[in-house]
Amino acid sequence: MRILVTGGAGFLGSHLCERLLREGHEVVCLDNFFTGRRKNIHAYFADLNFELIRHDVVEPLLLEVDRIYHLACPASPVHYQYNPVKTIKTNVLGTHNMLGLAKRTRARFLLASTSEVYGDPKVHPQTEDYWGSVNPIGIRSCYDEGKRVAETFAMDYHRQSRVDIRIVRIFNTYGPRMLPDDGRVVSNFIVQALKGEDITVYGDGSQTRSFCYVDDLIDGLVRMMASENFTGPVNLGNPEEFTILELAKKIIAMTGSRSKIVFKALPSDDPTQRQPDIGLAKQKLGWQPKVTVDEGFNTTIDYFRKELAR
Ligand code: NAD
Ligand code: UDP
Repeated sequence: MRILVTGGAGFLGSHLCERLLREGHEVVCLDNFFTGRRKNIHAYFADLNFELIRHDVVEPLLLEVDRIYHLACPASPVHYQYNPVKTIKTNVLGTHNMLGLAKRTRARFLLASTSEVYGDPKVHPQTEDYWGSVNPIGIRSCYDEGKRVAETFAMDYHRQSRVDIRIVRIFNTYGPRMLPDDGRVVSNFIVQALKGEDITVYGDGSQTRSFCYVDDLIDGLVRMMASENFTGPVNLGNPEEFTILELAKKIIAMTGSRSKIVFKALPSDDPTQRQPDIGLAKQKLGWQPKVTVDEGFNTTIDYFRKELAR
């Protein structure tokens, strides 16, 4: 099949391109290189099945494809808050353009949505039937509300124009190819620990997150795209939950670092708890994470060691 991956030069997108090429597909990787890097995909440049398009999804695009994985959007709060107007345009106008492409080509369309649609959740762990608790006017809204509109757009194109859609709600995912200055917690803590710098815990570190290794997540995306008669939304993530303070201590121990923990102001609207209920993914996709948190963190620590040594 010819498969479009928007945001294909980013962290998740580049791993997805790799997996799809390995399966023998033609891959069209589209990216505007806001947070993506050529380095993430340069290994595939010689592959005749790989094509790279520098394009911004906010602008329409004419292509012929069989499948669309729509990942284009910065995922780190630091990056999506850098230009919030652009973030909401990417989520709304960009998703509109890609759904239009799916409608014209009759391609199956998978939306990379997020656990952020649950906001600061009052239901724990989060199930797909929970509607969320989201501030519509806060500093995270360009992303949270943008993704919620993207989900609405996808469902309405499905109901109104029979576009074959899949919605995946991705929970915090980490692994090799994250940028050292990405700003998300796993990369921040590992880079700080390896450099011997202070580990910056925001707030008192009692807020929780659950961390999924990238290979597991990609496997879930591919399974969801292949599934029949199931639009989702479906949660994909690792249910093992940590407080951020526990995470900081774990990374210090795993890296053997002498870094100290320092406490910084908690950004506004930072969700207090987050853990996926993955019952639906197990039932519909036969999916659950295989990589343990220790294995995943070790691989990621090795990756950052090499990155920082360059
Ligand atoms: P990332 O920032 O590494 O990748 C995003 C990619 O999209 C980058 O290559 C960037 O250059 C590209 N991009 C951004 N705006 C674009 C635009 N207007 N036009 C074209 N390309 C554009 O982030 P990621 O972690 O790989 O996330 C990929 C997707 O998965 C995002 O949609 C994100 O919301 C979603 N997601 C990720 C996580 C996670 O923990 N990694 C969690 C929830 C949801
Ligand atoms: N966080 C932190 N220190 C950092 C970066 C993040 O304590 O250097 C916290 C952040 O406040 C949040 C959690 O870690 O509570 C996860 O943040 P991240 O940016 O990775 O993703 P989020 O799940 O908030 O989108």
